[in-house]
Amino acid sequence: MKDKKIPTKIFLSESELPKYWYNMNAVMKDKHEPALNPKTLKPCTLEDFSEVFCEELAKQELNFTDEYIEIPEEVQDFYAMIRPSPLTRAYCLEKVLDTPAEIYYKFEGNNTSGSHKLNSAIAQAYYAKEQGLTSLTTETGAGQWGTALSMACAYYNMDLTVFMVKSSAEQKPFRKAVIETYGGKVIPSPSETTKVGRKILEQFPGTGGSLGCAVSEATEKALETPNCKYVLGSVMDHVVLHQSIIGLETKIALDKYNIEPDVLIACVGGGSNFGGFIAPFVKDVINGTAKYKIIGVEPKSCPSLTRGKYAYDFGDTGKMTPLLKMCTLGNGFMPAVSHSGGLRYHGMNPIVSKLYHDGYIDAVAVEQTRVFEAAVTFAKSEGILPAPESSHAIRVAIDEALKCKETGEKKKIVFCLTGTGYFDLAAYSAYNAKTMSDYVPTEEDLKKGFDSLPAVE
Ligand SMILES: *Cc1c(COP(=O)(O)O)cnc(C)c1O
Repeated sequence: MKDKKIPTKIFLSESELPKYWYNMNAVMKDKHEPALNPKTLKPCTLEDFSEVFCEELAKQELNFTDEYIEIPEEVQDFYAMIRPSPLTRAYCLEKVLDTPAEIYYKFEGNNTSGSHKLNSAIAQAYYAKEQGLTSLTTETGAGQWGTALSMACAYYNMDLTVFMVKSSAEQKPFRKAVIETYGGKVIPSPSETTKVGRKILEQFPGTGGSLGCAVSEATEKALETPNCKYVLGSVMDHVVLHQSIIGLETKIALDKYNIEPDVLIACVGGGSNFGGFIAPFVKDVINGTAKYKIIGVEPKSCPSLTRGKYAYDFGDTGKMTPLLKMCTLGNGFMPAVSHSGGLRYHGMNPIVSKLYHDGYIDAVAVEQTRVFEAAVTFAKSEGILPAPESSHAIRVAIDEALKCKETGEKKKIVFCLTGTGYFDLAAYSAYNAKTMSDYVPTEEDLKKGFDSLPAVE
């Protein structure tokens, strides 16, 4: 039944929009271990990070002290165009599920890129421009990050080369068209255009590629191009920082109606939307002043949290990035092709990994057919066709709401809906035609990945 006190959509006015990002690293009692320079195995310095990343982003990566970091005014102005994203009470879904639970979702798919990735893309392009760079390189898995960054680069007149995981480029030709419309250059990865790409092709002929390979190619290309840097759409702490805009807005909207969440849910690929969504809530959990249940949802086919190891690992298959202490399946883990390209990554953001390792948050792994079942239920009741990645969060939100139906609990469940599924129609076709399968890696598959972990304590 509709509660007249709580509107279906809770919006914020422009003056209520956050002017600061939230830095979880400042409030973690036990900090995660530092990133290591892969050559010296010493903690990465500002110089180390600045070799690959823009300087401001390198500074953010190393900031363990400032709880709030100011959002540059130009970025605030851009955010005002695409934000706030609405927080919606899923009244219709609640009715369909016949649950006493209250379900809310924060929808990040209203901009043209179709996902939350633009929140960080615009910030990263801004800092690159400020530093006087003229071009950027990046990787993209499912294509959402490449799309978001091409929009951001177009806004700041910067050149962009996108290494797009080959299987995705083939599955999603229209993603490529959007990236090219905004002026980005798309190269399917692995490619013959880089040394590491040629090496991977030799080792794995006919491979559909992976995010790890694409990261290696984009890094190599950035190091070889003058006035060019490589930027990342997930995994690093500075990306989680930018994505904290999601959690901050969510908290302001909930506070307006005195809604205390019981369960917070988001999908996890590299951990950026999840980390950003939970950021302003985590302090209370760490201090023991709130008992939110926080759940990250990952695919069973790529279970970095639920079956991974907490260890130092490279961010890429080519072993070029700094070593990060994280929950990982090993840089050599080759996830099966699935319809949630954005969640096919072997590692996990170091903050999220540490929170999980220390027991502050939970994780659940789900099969893709159950994910699509939830996606269709959601699409029919709430009117939004969700991205497959986002639908992992829907699955667990529905499962939690169904548990409430059994116990009669009126839990308040809030989840992050990261994007739309308009570019994932091949996946929906497969689901509708019942040709979708669930691949769960065997212990042997996992062992191959773990064998690729570097021997670093
Ligand atoms: C990239 C992406 C994800 C996963 O990335 P995170 O960094 O884990 O947030 C989830 N949903 C959508 C729609 C994406 O594009």
